Amino acid sequence: MTKQRIVILGGGESGVGTALLAKAKGYEVFVSDKGKIKENYKKVLIHNEIEWEDEAHTVAKVLNANIVMKSPGIPDTAPLIKQIRDNGIPIVSEIEFASNFTKATIVGITGSNGKTTTATLTHYILKQELNVGLAGNIGDSFAKQILDKDFENYVLEISSFQLDDIKTFKPKIAVLLNVTPDHLDRYDYKFENYIASKFRIAENHTKEDYLIYDADDEVITEWLKKHPVQSTLLPFSITKKMEKGTYLDEENMIIAIDNNHIHMPTTNLALEGKHNIKNAMAASTVAHLLKIRKQTIRESLESFQGVEHRLEQVLKINKVQYINDSKATNVNATYFALESMDAPTVWIVGGVDKGNNYEELFPFVNEKVKAIICLGVDNEKLLNTFGAMVDTIVETERMSDAVKMAYKLAESGDNVLLSPACASFDLFENYEDRGRQFKDAVRNL
Ligand code: ADP
Repeated sequence: MTKQRIVILGGGESGVGTALLAKAKGYEVFVSDKGKIKENYKKVLIHNEIEWEDEAHTVAKVLNANIVMKSPGIPDTAPLIKQIRDNGIPIVSEIEFASNFTKATIVGITGSNGKTTTATLTHYILKQELNVGLAGNIGDSFAKQILDKDFENYVLEISSFQLDDIKTFKPKIAVLLNVTPDHLDRYDYKFENYIASKFRIAENHTKEDYLIYDADDEVITEWLKKHPVQSTLLPFSITKKMEKGTYLDEENMIIAIDNNHIHMPTTNLALEGKHNIKNAMAASTVAHLLKIRKQTIRESLESFQGVEHRLEQVLKINKVQYINDSKATNVNATYFALESMDAPTVWIVGGVDKGNNYEELFPFVNEKVKAIICLGVDNEKLLNTFGAMVDTIVETERMSDAVKMAYKLAESGDNVLLSPACASFDLFENYEDRGRQFKDAVRNL
């Protein structure tokens, strides 16, 4: 029998992982990247005798595939993708391809904000009692982990781009944290296309599978009314009690999804902010479904220290707390950051504006922000929007200057918060670089 030919577009973490898995499963593999493939990935491909090219696609060779795996970063509008589709060649995402080679129970976590935090927290709880891997947009690719050690369970952080090319992928437990406008450039600027893409996480579900979702998110609840899913629905809410679901009763989290109701205090959660109560609810519901003991869930919620660049407490200097929330690349993430501030705040904001509407932040800015430091290319909109709202609003072009300025403006008891609400590609390589520069500058004060 002739070998199946798979062409992998994109030689990054998910592409190279898929290449290794496909090769091990007997496929003829060709990796093609329009950009430059990183040296460490090239070495892996060469070492494993996998054919590759970079800095251009050889179209004829790509179109010779039986199946194409497309990295999530490549938009559907790319001319090559159109050609592939016109030739009737199926395109799949990494999670679709890889999930065919594991029998593990899969927890898939998606949403506009909170994916990494919730996936990491869920993995942290589950790993206390189960054999479980963490993959998706985090760390080693899902495909590579299946090849290396294949866990009995996986927690996958799943972006809408990964969901765009699924066919049969079915996480036993799906989590939909929230849906707010993001990445609309990839969805014909239609919010409903983006919502539909997020809901694909449940499209192959039957009653045996679960969809855990935020019942306080109207985008989600309205969509569900019009587009019912087959899954068993498990809502969570911080505003209302429910017969079946996870909710707050005073300061206790109640998981009421089966006969074994669980009550847990939320007062000792290591993570701060209302949004993190939501994330904790989602993670705890997953853990309960997978039969993790209540005591383990409770202790894990109390000891989990969070993920770098997400409301990360950096240092306290002269009784001023410095907080790194560089991962807040959209307004909604910054909304929850400002909401969780418990002291007057010097706010460092800005970067590449993604068509931001800042209105929803006004109440928090009025109530909590004492000074604003704009750091980015699109400062003008910030100056116009917030100029009249705070006494001090200044512009800087470098992180070190922004932090020095914050140091001058903050007084004992205040917070200094980096929560940009914007992308980072103007002054920084990525949000990690932005967050690390912030932390370095704080440590150098
Ligand atoms: P993602 O992986 O979806 O980008 P992260 O966990 O990396 O999400 O968090 C991104 C940003 O969103 C951070 O600034 C974080 O503080 C904020 N955030 C975390 N959880 C939520 C949530 N449930 N709702 C809104 N914002 C959140």
